[in-house]
Amino acid sequence: MLRLRRAALFAFVLGPVSLAAQQPAPAGRVGAYVPPRDWPLRRHDFDLIHQRIEVAFNVPRRLVRGVVTTRLVPTAGPTDSVALDAGNLTIDAAIDARGKPLRFRYDTSHVVVRLARRAAQGDTVQFTLRYHTVPERGLYFVPRRRIIWSQGEATETRNWIPTYDAANDKATWEFLVTADTGMRVLSNGRLVGVRPGRDGAHRVWHWSQEKPASTYLYSVVVGPFAVLRDQWRGIPVDYWVSRDTVAAAWRAFGETPSMIEIYSRVLGVPYPWAKYSQSVIPDFTYGGMENVSATTQTDLVLSAAGGPEGGARSLVAHELAHQWFGDLTTAADWSHIWLNEGLTTYMESVHEEKSRGWDAAQLNWWREQQQAMRADSAQARPLVWGRYEGDDPIVLFFSGHVYPKGAQVAHQLRRLLGDS
Ligand SMILES: [Zn+2]
Repeated sequence: MLRLRRAALFAFVLGPVSLAAQQPAPAGRVGAYVPPRDWPLRRHDFDLIHQRIEVAFNVPRRLVRGVVTTRLVPTAGPTDSVALDAGNLTIDAAIDARGKPLRFRYDTSHVVVRLARRAAQGDTVQFTLRYHTVPERGLYFVPRRRIIWSQGEATETRNWIPTYDAANDKATWEFLVTADTGMRVLSNGRLVGVRPGRDGAHRVWHWSQEKPASTYLYSVVVGPFAVLRDQWRGIPVDYWVSRDTVAAAWRAFGETPSMIEIYSRVLGVPYPWAKYSQSVIPDFTYGGMENVSATTQTDLVLSAAGGPEGGARSLVAHELAHQWFGDLTTAADWSHIWLNEGLTTYMESVHEEKSRGWDAAQLNWWREQQQAMRADSAQARPLVWGRYEGDDPIVLFFSGHVYPKGAQVAHQLRRLLGDS
């Protein structure tokens, strides 16, 4: 993820930083280590295997109707019930794999399904939930632009899909999204197909994420997009943009295949997913979000000062790096989020170095250094940090200790260990 300010105001960052550098820096101190709030991992008594998620929308009412089939394996002994995260979902029915009704109960945060018979550790359990909700978070409607978009990180997916909503479990999934004819739907993984809906006014888009990933990376974006198509080593690379921003979008995203090549070579792991799509949407909460194989980005990137090329480059480089750091390898607990965000911020510099040379990388590095020192001066806290107020771990992200300071640690490790 990248916050909006960094992406949208990228060109302005250098000025204030230069001025700040003239001021005497307040003395910082190293903070005492505070154990993460939920240490070491959130515990659950099953392994989530697969979810098949059918959703349809009533846009004027901002309502979601869903049918979600969940397959999981109990891992902590026999059980006769399964609890999933479910934020303010109204559960209409639960049925087992043979279509028989199951008992269930739910409150504002969980749904607990009573299994038809006790499942042993290692058994495969499958059940389907029908539900509806008007989500306050997780799924967002922009009617004036006919756009719908989702945001999972850190703990928003549960507000429109019943799931295990923590990073320390990886599953595969499918989305079957019903949308108005004329709309396009982007989601994770491979497009299985698009078929007509029953009424002729809708189509059903079927996407399949066939390599496991964490559920905060679930993504659906719906809109009247133009899809610009490119490729890297035969893997589809495309850009889902408003039809009136095609030229700016090519300038903003056209470097993506060469970035994928650079990262694949530097990291020694070829780009690991079925495709790479970037969608550009209005009213996005952040600058970008690295939903696996289907990154979401703010449309402000196309009008950034200095033109879309410069404004988008760090954002594109950052979110693409997440396809390795965050999506393929994932911090299991939000207190370790620097492993996602510090390493991707570091990779922005690596991209500058490989594409524009050492001086460009140094400038990037120096800018991060200033931000990291300011963050340390403002608040003494270690890199791994789990103490936060409220329910949303996203507040851990943006103090400056996670992104720029995390990147500094990666630079330091590279300096100590060298490239190998
Ligand atoms: Zn990020």
